[in-house]
Amino acid sequence: MTDPAAPPQTTRVRRCPICNKPRVEAHSPFCSTRCRDRDLVRWLDEGYAVPGPPADPEMDN
Ligand SMILES: [Zn+2]
Repeated sequence: MTDPAAPPQTTRVRRCPICNKPRVEAHSPFCSTRCRDRDLVRWLDEGYAVPGPPADPEMDN
């Protein structure tokens, strides 16, 4: 069902948790590979022993 009067998706854009820019779907939940890597490095630096990336409750498939 398509509602022609529906507001554009831009009103609820999600943002990169690293730099707060609008996220890019290809790098979700981040805006770029740089931010994704930065998040990973931060986790490693802080010594978290996680067997994978943290779960993202906002992930929409
Ligand atoms: Zn970013």
